[in-house]
Amino acid sequence: MKLSPVLPARRWAQIIMTIVIVAIGIQFTLWVSAHLAGRMPSVSRPPGAEGFLPIDGMMATRHLLYTGEIDPIHPAGLAIFLGICLMSVVVAKSFCSHLCPVGWLSEILGRLGVRMIGTTLTPPKWLDIPLRGIKFLLFGFFAWAVWFAMSPQAIEDFLLSPYARVVDAKMWRFFAPPSGLTVAVIGILVVGSIFVRDLWCRYLCPYGALVGVLGRFAFFKVGRDADICTDCRACTAVCPARLPVHRLGRVSSIECTGCQDCVVACQVDGCLAMRGPEIVGGWKRRLRPATVVAVAVGVWLVIVGGFRVTGHWHNNISEQEYNYRIQEMESPTYSHVGGMAPPEDG
Ligand code: SF4
Ligand code: SF4
Ligand code: SF4
Repeated sequence: MKLSPVLPARRWAQIIMTIVIVAIGIQFTLWVSAHLAGRMPSVSRPPGAEGFLPIDGMMATRHLLYTGEIDPIHPAGLAIFLGICLMSVVVAKSFCSHLCPVGWLSEILGRLGVRMIGTTLTPPKWLDIPLRGIKFLLFGFFAWAVWFAMSPQAIEDFLLSPYARVVDAKMWRFFAPPSGLTVAVIGILVVGSIFVRDLWCRYLCPYGALVGVLGRFAFFKVGRDADICTDCRACTAVCPARLPVHRLGRVSSIECTGCQDCVVACQVDGCLAMRGPEIVGGWKRRLRPATVVAVAVGVWLVIVGGFRVTGHWHNNISEQEYNYRIQEMESPTYSHVGGMAPPEDG
C-alpha cells in the first residue's frame, strides 16, 4: 500500500469536526462533573454529546417514522444520526472519511504504519472476509432489536424512560475513569491499527456497517472511465479499503468510504472521479474533489442546522431535573435490562 496526498478540503473537515467534538467533550465533562458533585454547572449541557448515542438515534428514527414526532429527550442525537445517514447516501459512506474522529485517528495510525513498515497488513482473504462480517453481525443485531424486536410502544417507552434521560451521563461515567479492561482493549486497537489499517473500522464498527450499507445506494460514487484508464494501478495502491479500483467501473463496495484518495492519486485527467448514476446522465458530470467534500459535509450541516433553526436541538429537561437524576443514576430506576428500561417510580 502507498500513501497518497490527502485532499485538503477533506482533511480540514476532519480537523474542524475533531476540534468541535473535543470542545463538546470538555464542556460535557464540566457539566456532568458538576451535577455528580451536587452543584449547578457553570456551563450548559452541549446537545452535540447526543451524537455518541447512535442506537438511541436509530430508535428515534423509527419513532419519527412511526409517529411523526421528534424524540424530545435527545433531539440533537436524532439530527446528527439522520445527517450521518443522509450524507452517506449522497456521497458513499462519506461520514467515515469526512467527519468521524475515530476514522481520522484510524487513518493517522494507518498512515503511520505504512511509513514504518512500508505497507499495511491484511489477513488472507479466507480470514479477512469473515472478519469483515463481524461489524455487519453487530449492526444486524442492533437493527433487528430496534426495527423488529421492539414494538413502536416499547420504543417510545424507552426513549422517554428515566434511563434514556441520563444515558449520556451514564456513558460518560463508563469512560471516566475507564476500567483496566477498557484501556487494554483501546490500547490493542490503537496499536493494531498502526499495522492493520482501519482495524476497528474495517472489522468491528457497527456504525460503519450501517453507513456502508447506505453507501451501497449512494448517489455519488467513484467511477472510472475505462476508455482513458492506463491501468497504472495508482488508485488501487492507495485505497485504504483495499479495493481493486483499477478494474472497477463504478465503485459500489460497502467498504468504500468516499475518501477520494484514489481520485487524488490518478494522474489521468477525468479518468477517476466522483460521479452520479449513469441512468440520470451523472456519468458525464464528474464532481470536482473539493465539491464532493462540500456536498457531503453540506448535507450533514443542512440536517443539523434544520433541527437547530426549527427549535429541535435542545431538550427541555431543566438543570434542576438533571441535577437530581444524575446524582441518583446508579439506582435501579435508571437501570437498563434487555433493551427495556423500568418505569419511573411515582
Ligand atoms: S467505521 Fe465507525 S469508527 Fe470508523 S470511521 Fe466509520 S463510523 Fe467512524
Ligand atoms: S490511477 Fe487512474 S489511470 Fe491509473 S489505473 Fe487507476 S483509474 Fe486507471
Ligand atoms: S475506492 Fe477510492 S474513495 Fe473508495 S475507499 Fe478506495 S480510495 Fe477511497
